[in-house]
Formats: sequence, C-alpha cells, structure tokens
Amino acid sequence: MPESPEVQALVEFLDERIRGRAIAAVDIDEFRVVKTRERPPASLVGATIGGLSRFGKHVGFDTAAGWLMLGFGRNGWIRWLDAGESPSDEPVPEVARIVLDDGAAMRIVDTGDFLGVTLSVVDVPRDLSGIAALGPDPLSVDFTREEFDRALGTRRKQIKALLQEQSSLAGIGNAYSDEILHRARIAPAVHAALLDDDERERLFQATVDVLRGAAADRRGVPPHELKQAKVAAMAVHGRGGEPCPVCGTTILDRTFGGASAQFCPHCQPEHSVA
Ligand SMILES: [Zn+2]
Repeated sequence: MPESPEVQALVEFLDERIRGRAIAAVDIDEFRVVKTRERPPASLVGATIGGLSRFGKHVGFDTAAGWLMLGFGRNGWIRWLDAGESPSDEPVPEVARIVLDDGAAMRIVDTGDFLGVTLSVVDVPRDLSGIAALGPDPLSVDFTREEFDRALGTRRKQIKALLQEQSSLAGIGNAYSDEILHRARIAPAVHAALLDDDERERLFQATVDVLRGAAADRRGVPPHELKQAKVAAMAVHGRGGEPCPVCGTTILDRTFGGASAQFCPHCQPEHSVA
C-alpha cells in the first residue's frame, strides 16, 4: 500500500514534469474507478495543470477546471511515460491514462485483485469526505507534539491500528507503522492510553524521524523503483523470521485484530499490553 513517503516522492517527481502542461486526453479503461460520474475526469481535457499535491496517501491535480483527486487504494500507482516513449510490451493493469499536451503520459495502474484506485473531480480537495477527515500529517513541517498527543488521545485502541487511522494521523499504513514502533521500541498491540510520557515522546520522535527519513531517501527515485526502494529499506516490516537489525533477535510475525504486524520481541517488549 502506498504510504506518505513514497507518495511524496511520486508527487515531487511528477509535479516538475506536469506543472504548466495542459491535459490533452483522459482515457478511462476501467469506469468503476470514476467516483464522480456527473463530473467525469474527461471534463478536465484542455485545462492547464497548476501543480500536484499530496493529501495523506492521496494525490490531487490542481487544474484550471477543478481538482482531479486520485486515491491509490492498496495496489494503485502511477507509471510515467516520457513524450515519445513507447510503453513496454509487458501487460500493464492500466485503469486510466492522462495524456499531456507535450505527449508525455501518466498511466494509472492497479495491480490488485480488487480495484482500489479512485478518481474524482471536485472544486476543492476537502469536497471529498476522505480528504476532509484526514488528521494531521507527520511529514508536514509544522507537525507538532501537541497534534500527536491529540491524535493519540487516551483511547484504548492498539497503537499500531491507531497509527494507521487516517483521521488520527494522515499517511501511515501497515509498513511504516511497523517501522515507527520498532524505532520507538513499543509493542504493536499496546493500547495508546497505556503509553507513558516517555513512550509518547519516543513514539512522536520515531514517527517524525522514520517518515521524514524515508521521504528524504526516496526523493529523486523514479516512480517505478519506489516500491522496491521502500521494501529494501524496511528494518522489521515484511521481515518475520529474519534477525532484528538492532539486536539480532528473530523478528516475529503476528496478527492483531485481523492485521499482521512484524516486530522484535526484545526491542519491543509486550510488558505493557493490557
Ligand atoms: Zn531487536
């Protein structure tokens, strides 16, 4: 699932290539991804793109005729085609394509068994309920400890699930929640309400450091290499059975509340689990 560091790198890569270009065509291969039937993406043909922005794990194209909002779901992404570049012969699960006036194109793909990509045209991003409901974004330069404490609250909710709740904190998914908790030395199943002040401070620092560090590392990586770069950088996520890079203890793979988590039982002791 795309998470904020990779989406941010994608946004920066595309923004410098599409800003100021006009949309020449929007081809929809899979009409189920269009969520605003009364205002289809093709209504933006001819409009100039002012820029591309990230909203949590979503992106939005700011055009002269409205915002085109793109949600990636679990398996969506954008493949970039330079002007004059022919697509490779390999079959691509393209659901839509945005062609620019210089001949370059963005192929929106969904590699999942179930469609997760969504496309909507709105006047402003907050017209989408999922965008309006987003919590503060730890990648934002003005993200504060106070916002983090408000997001954590005093809830009896497992901290790994809370970190991924987009209305609490924007942009974190399954992979970075594992990485943040490992960096903070906090077990994934502990309830937020049981974290003491020292643990909250560690978790705040880990959240900011992991996400900003990943975003800095991914900057400049081309879109088709971002997923592999993310996988390669993981300390514990997806590495059940491998040694912890900090202490060498075997990383565990457990399921909490229907979602899997990978963590180090030595670095992240479960003493405070309710
Ligand atoms: Zn460890």
